[in-house]
Amino acid sequence: MTNKLIYLDNNATTQVDEKVLNSMMPFFKSEYANPSSMYDFAKTSSKAIADARVKVKEFFNAESEREILFTSCGSESANTAIKGVLETNKDKRHIITSKVEHPCVLNVYKKLEKQGYKVDYIGVNYNGELDLEQLSEAITDDTALVSIMYANNETGVINPISKIAEIIKSKNPQTKFFVDAVQVAGKIPIDVQTCGVDLMGISGHKFHAPKGVGALYVNSKTIISPLIIGGHQERGKRAGTENVPYIVGLGTACEEAQSFLKYEASEVKRLRDKLESGILKNIFNARLNTGLANRVPNTSNIGFEYIEGELILLHLSDLGICASSGSACTSGSLEPSHVLRAMNVPFTAIHGSIRFSLSRFNTESEIDYVIDVLPGVIEKIRNLSPYQDELEALRTQKAAAGCSCM
Ligand code: PLP
Repeated sequence: MTNKLIYLDNNATTQVDEKVLNSMMPFFKSEYANPSSMYDFAKTSSKAIADARVKVKEFFNAESEREILFTSCGSESANTAIKGVLETNKDKRHIITSKVEHPCVLNVYKKLEKQGYKVDYIGVNYNGELDLEQLSEAITDDTALVSIMYANNETGVINPISKIAEIIKSKNPQTKFFVDAVQVAGKIPIDVQTCGVDLMGISGHKFHAPKGVGALYVNSKTIISPLIIGGHQERGKRAGTENVPYIVGLGTACEEAQSFLKYEASEVKRLRDKLESGILKNIFNARLNTGLANRVPNTSNIGFEYIEGELILLHLSDLGICASSGSACTSGSLEPSHVLRAMNVPFTAIHGSIRFSLSRFNTESEIDYVIDVLPGVIEKIRNLSPYQDELEALRTQKAAAGCSCM
């Protein structure tokens, strides 16, 4: 074990930014009023929510603050969007999503399918890119909703959201389009107006706000019914006393994220690319699972052939390095990820696939350290692999192609 912590699992969660934390603090202790109360003491907390809503609205580039709902997480945003749209549109019974969505969308769709909805699950190619032709063919007059994620949590592959919106609306202008944008928030610019989406969800803890707060954009032309019924909060669309400090934190995180977008696109991407090329150059049984697909700047999904991903993670953990196999929700099970299965990642690499996801808090020396120690870790595990003949053949093949890696 080492004292050093190198956190490369930022698609699972992120550390809270200092500015975000500082902005939240007064609302735990001195400004604790219920924002719905009538007295003057409540004015600071209700104004803080209003200010945060403006910041989130600007983050989405929404038309109005009235289009922003605060939620508790990305999963609640997705559940509210999907169930909220279908509840107000009961005569249509067809819905569409992709095979590689996060469980907070996929499992809702599976439940709806059991309840009698006709569901189309759109596939992806070997790089993780959505099959747009299949999507276009699937849309009918009966399609109530399409849910497609902005970027995949395991691979970082970005879907062409504007193009998808165009396809949907040209086939059926009444079909609503929900986008789970949890993995793009803070990584690439978001603009709901140019994207042409109806609903979009984000989660604070993926971009340096705390766990327990999220937001849902619902455009003014879309009517949803609430998931949580009770008081009049969030204009009747989400009951429950507002989580003032966390909402304030989300607002600050949105503001901060905007100011770091250039840094993400240049420096975070540079470090991610350095890590990736260092691994691919130095380790002969490594392959980039996403090929040339367009990705968010922080994510790399690499398959190490003929070895087990869990073993790699345990060895890395002993060195203080945090990474992930599969998504945070599915790792812990030995089933290969549904995302990599949908991409047809070969069986030789699917069990040994590792996701590295960076943030603006990672440093060059951390990346150098990982590039330095990972080949030794992989070699140690390779020596235990039952696939020695296959590994030897792979080594010979790579050497013939001019690779001198170990
Ligand atoms: N959507 C995507 C793409 C995610 O990666 C995650 C979390 O991993 C979620 C939704 C769920 O977000 P939360 O953990 O805030 O519910």
